Amino acid sequence: MQYDVIVIGSGPGGYVAAIRCAQLGLKTAIIEKYNTLGGTCLNVGCIPSKALLDSSEHYHNAAHTFAGHGIKLDNLGVDFGQMIKRKTEVVDANTSGIAFLMKKNKIDVHTGVGSFKDKNTIIVTKADGTAAELTTTNVIIATGSKPSALPFLKIDKKRIITSTEALSLKEIPKHLVLIGGGVIGLELGSVYARLGSKVSVIEFMDGIIPTMDKALGRELQRVLKKLGMEFYLGHKVTGASVKGKEVTVTFDDTKGEKKELKGDYCLVAVGRIAYTDGLGLDKIGLTVEERGRKITVDEHLETSVKGVYAIGDVIKGAMLAHKAEDEGTLVAEIIAGQKPHIDYNLIPGVVYTWPEVAAVGQTEEQLKAAGVAYKTGSFPFRASGRARASGDLDGFVKVLADVTTDEILGVHMIGPRAADMIAEAVVAMEYRASAEDISRMSHAHPTYTEAMREACLAATENRAIHM
Ligand code: FAD
Ligand code: NAD
Repeated sequence: MQYDVIVIGSGPGGYVAAIRCAQLGLKTAIIEKYNTLGGTCLNVGCIPSKALLDSSEHYHNAAHTFAGHGIKLDNLGVDFGQMIKRKTEVVDANTSGIAFLMKKNKIDVHTGVGSFKDKNTIIVTKADGTAAELTTTNVIIATGSKPSALPFLKIDKKRIITSTEALSLKEIPKHLVLIGGGVIGLELGSVYARLGSKVSVIEFMDGIIPTMDKALGRELQRVLKKLGMEFYLGHKVTGASVKGKEVTVTFDDTKGEKKELKGDYCLVAVGRIAYTDGLGLDKIGLTVEERGRKITVDEHLETSVKGVYAIGDVIKGAMLAHKAEDEGTLVAEIIAGQKPHIDYNLIPGVVYTWPEVAAVGQTEEQLKAAGVAYKTGSFPFRASGRARASGDLDGFVKVLADVTTDEILGVHMIGPRAADMIAEAVVAMEYRASAEDISRMSHAHPTYTEAMREACLAATENRAIHM
């Protein structure tokens, strides 16, 4: 079969690229080594983690906030097996949805490992060892990433686990020791802390979610402490060992003194690394970067081999599903002769804890480092009528704007529904709105979004109305 485009990998980068190629009239195939489509995001990432976050949040509210609303419950308990079963059903519904979309768009799906024979020939090797050859004009590599490991620490996938195992545990951990206070650690740590686990976070840096605006990490840590999570910041893990059902994690504290924690599970969440195993990149003369194992691409996301593109987690930039999707669309349109563009500064980042954390644009630390003159406007949710009604009083919206032009340069929020609210900031910044622009636009009352308007008013002339 001769194709215009073959996409290798069916995560959010790959399947979106395939659909956009098909929409543009290109004869397209997608190759996926697993039996289900959707990649990390749908199978062992975004979707299952959010399903468990939602379930555990319902339980937590029933246990801790319903009484305050005047709702009485007897015999409240967790059926963890059902929670995991529901998560699996949510994943199945999503992955079959992608299979449906492939059919609808007349995209051929080939199951097996895709590898280069040459730049126009891809071999698909099935699980039973049989292989087929497909030829194509263009290839899009969308093979994603896998969890990073620590060289001195063996992940046995039973007691010392990655996010993949943490999404399918058979029991609620009694004490979950978490290595890494980044996005995965805090999301999955929240799930189990809400379900009653003791959760200890060991983080190398001096704050959690260290790549985001520092104010967000500080507030999130304060709230997660209320949930019972404990934090060891600036601590360096040195090893972990398993004896029966017990895991011992050893680490050095800030003064270099040796410490240890014992738990029944240890989740290693220290980042992810690009995945190119079995692709046969050497057959087309491509190598990967030493650090991060990423494939190098130019501004059109084309590799040094003409007609071979790469997108998503396997290339530079944030490892986010929506970034992979945007890149899939971009490459499809470039192949079709269009001139698309992505503003990487305006890709939002979200942490789905409660309260949610969301941000877009520059952090205060980045603006300081770049010597940009900026002003700040903040508004706390405790002053929002909507947040008072729902009882979600933690968090704030912080807007950073250029001191001279008032253009919004960054928006950083932690609070109820921040993951959805950040969309307003993205639209505003795409259109290069000023803080005053947003503060003059009507925001429905009472909504959490009023906090965004108030933060913009605070940034404009320090004239927030409700504080
Ligand atoms: P992937 O989704 O990793 O897909 C790559 C696919 O390629 C896989 O299916 C793989 O099997 C296949 N493949 C690899 N090699 C071959 C080969 N040689 N032949 C055939 N197939 C191959 N991001 C967000 O934006 N929001 C979130 O809420 C979020 N939550 C996450 C939660 C967790 C626990 C994890 C682990 C990640 C989360 N992410 C989230 C990150 C997100 O999942 C990734 O950024 C995204 O999946 C990257 O998409 P991708 O298409 O580049 O690769
Ligand atoms: P991360 O980069 O978010 O966090 C890893 C954390 O581990 C960092 O804070 C780092 O300082 C720390 N760390 C590294 N080495 C350490 C060590 N030896 N000891 C202690 N701490 C150490 O990575 P992650 O949480 O594993 O997530 C991986 C990727 O998946 C991220 O890039 C993220 O974008 C993506 N993801 C996104 C979402 C989302 O969008 N909501 C959710 C989950 C995952």
